[in-house]
Amino acid sequence: MPSPDQRLRRRIAAQGSISVADFMAEANAHYYGSRDPLGAAGDFITAPEISQMFGELVGIWIADLWSRAGRPLDLHFVELGPGRGTLARDALRAMSRIGLAPPVELVETSPALREVQAANLPQARWHDRITDLDGDGPLIVVANEFFDALPITQHDCEGRELRVRFADGRYVRDAADMVIESSPAALEAIAQVAGEIARRGGGALIIDYSREPGSVGDTLQAVSAHERADPWIDPGSRDLTALVDFGALGERATSSGVRVHGPTGQGDWLDAMGIGLRAAALARRHPDRTEEIATARDRLTAPGQMGRLFKVMALTAPDWPEPAGFMSAM
Ligand code: SAH
Repeated sequence: MPSPDQRLRRRIAAQGSISVADFMAEANAHYYGSRDPLGAAGDFITAPEISQMFGELVGIWIADLWSRAGRPLDLHFVELGPGRGTLARDALRAMSRIGLAPPVELVETSPALREVQAANLPQARWHDRITDLDGDGPLIVVANEFFDALPITQHDCEGRELRVRFADGRYVRDAADMVIESSPAALEAIAQVAGEIARRGGGALIIDYSREPGSVGDTLQAVSAHERADPWIDPGSRDLTALVDFGALGERATSSGVRVHGPTGQGDWLDAMGIGLRAAALARRHPDRTEEIATARDRLTAPGQMGRLFKVMALTAPDWPEPAGFMSAM
């Protein structure tokens, strides 16, 4: 099988150049498809891998919304890009304490990660996209660090698309004074999520690295072995991400027929969901781990760590209750 590098070079040789989105899609399909990138021995660590508290509070958010929606029996739990399945496992454990044990539907394209997920979630079913799910019961959809991995396009301020070429033995992207990003793939994905929720009922919780509202600029970045790396070198060997434009996602969701809540900072959302109480309870049960639990809480919520850069946004079907953790508009 040709490597992503060979495939990209062949496409560039045939067409002269390719879009940033095609470069990112080809690189990430190989990157995620061929390995488990998460954890200390991998390339990066995500919130559910930092502490069980993260997935548990997501589970409590789901169970609370479900209870106030009248406990519909045919609810499905859906996760987009579930990584190792850690968030889902922790969330399902928390939900089961409140009497909710929904079928588990995972939207995942990576064969390598599907295998890891199957070990953690033997009851799950897998899908390539959310529109492939059967049935018509309500869905609760969770996506943590999913949208930042979807391909982006880049343009200059005159609207010209920036293209990727291969010259002097390396990939180069067209230069521009100002780079304007958008992600047709992310907009398509949010429209599908919102469309399904509008039709079937339910809600969604989306958590990701966020662009500051109204800001522009090149945010494409690569991470390898927990360090920033050059996104234009060795495609398929490193994780490519870009900051998520929650404003654009929220607009697309609204126009697809759902209500949008937030985005709010991850720190504020976790505080509102009761991470303080959860941390105290865990520390009482495991006194030897008190310091580790406090450190994890701090990583997830402190403004200088993940608390502000990461945002949380919820979608709900029009006739579903207000979700917890968001200040309702005054
Ligand atoms: N949510 C997990 C993993 C985040 S990494 C966590 O928080 O730990 C991104 C995840 O999205 C991986 O599982 C990756 O395989 C998946 N993914 C990336 N692009 C995808 C696509 N186009 N369709 C479905 N899954 C995708």
